[in-house]
Amino acid sequence: MRDVNLVLIGPPGSGKGTQAARISARYGVPAISTGDILRAAVKAKSPLGRQVEAIMAAGDLVGDDLMIDLVRERLAAPDVTSGFILDGFPRTVVQADALDAMIDGCPLMALVLAVPEAEVARRLSSRRICAGCKTLYTGGTAYGSELELCSRCGGVLITRPDDNDVTIARRLLQYRQASEPVIGHYQARGLVVTVDGSRGVDDVSADVFTAIDGFRDGTGPVPPPSAG
Ligand code: AMP
Repeated sequence: MRDVNLVLIGPPGSGKGTQAARISARYGVPAISTGDILRAAVKAKSPLGRQVEAIMAAGDLVGDDLMIDLVRERLAAPDVTSGFILDGFPRTVVQADALDAMIDGCPLMALVLAVPEAEVARRLSSRRICAGCKTLYTGGTAYGSELELCSRCGGVLITRPDDNDVTIARRLLQYRQASEPVIGHYQARGLVVTVDGSRGVDDVSADVFTAIDGFRDGTGPVPPPSAG
């Protein structure tokens, strides 16, 4: 069985965070969200947080060097023993090259969640997140008086500061220009599985798990023989 070394690729709002949590629970590997790490730093007002706050608020990408160092450090942590799920990294080809060097030929699968841009824009502009258990609500059910509290834990539902129309447009542009080429980076090596992420969460998860099972037992995408 191969380790679950996985990168999740998809536009903002495609469900990467939701699927990463489900994959983590099923396969027992850590879900590493670079966006969550950065948001925690902003909240803590750490030097890193102060450095990235304005960039994130504008919907721009944090610099490659900083992100690469951050992920290198995270992948060296003791819980990354039998795999990892990267949610939100790599977001540029430079980051993808750096990840290749970090994992040094270990088998990797790139899972693309395909969702049309109009649908992700709709999801993001209606997205609310529970401040307590992080459950996501989209599609307007969390608006107004209908639902102000999380139906799961009773926590308060909040809107991410970068889920506003101007920033959403910028993030989608960044995805198209900087991140879509990352799919090509992995496609060239036969490592990509694409799942239709526009359906219900359970349907998406079912396809995601099938793809990961195929990768683990070697019937799915395989890396090329190591050049070295
Ligand atoms: P996310 O939660 O993945 O949508 O990320 C939120 C924001 O964090 C992005 O809009 C970027 O500003 C920043 N960010 C997260 N991951 C990366 C990355 N790999 N490279 C550059 N910026 C990132």
